[in-house]
Amino acid sequence: MDPQPEPVSYICGDCGMENTLKPGDVIQCRECGYRILYKKRTRRKGWSDGSGRERQWRREKREKRRSVDLAATTVATVEERLQRR
Ligand SMILES: [Zn+2]
Repeated sequence: MDPQPEPVSYICGDCGMENTLKPGDVIQCRECGYRILYKKRTRRKGWSDGSGRERQWRREKREKRRSVDLAATTVATVEERLQRR
């Protein structure tokens, strides 16, 4: 009898979703279908084990440049609305 295979956590290389896969499972993100997954590093500096943190980190990295413009636009819009009231 084989021992119960240990599920391993992987982080999607695209969206950062954590995928728990067992040996023999298809290496594919359940969230977006991306096929490149990274083995989760639990002791990496700057990372937390809190759920969702890796995903947020990934998203921030990807949208870093865009979010600056977006934030400026949002602030401008809010200020504009406040002045109209
Ligand atoms: Zn994904």
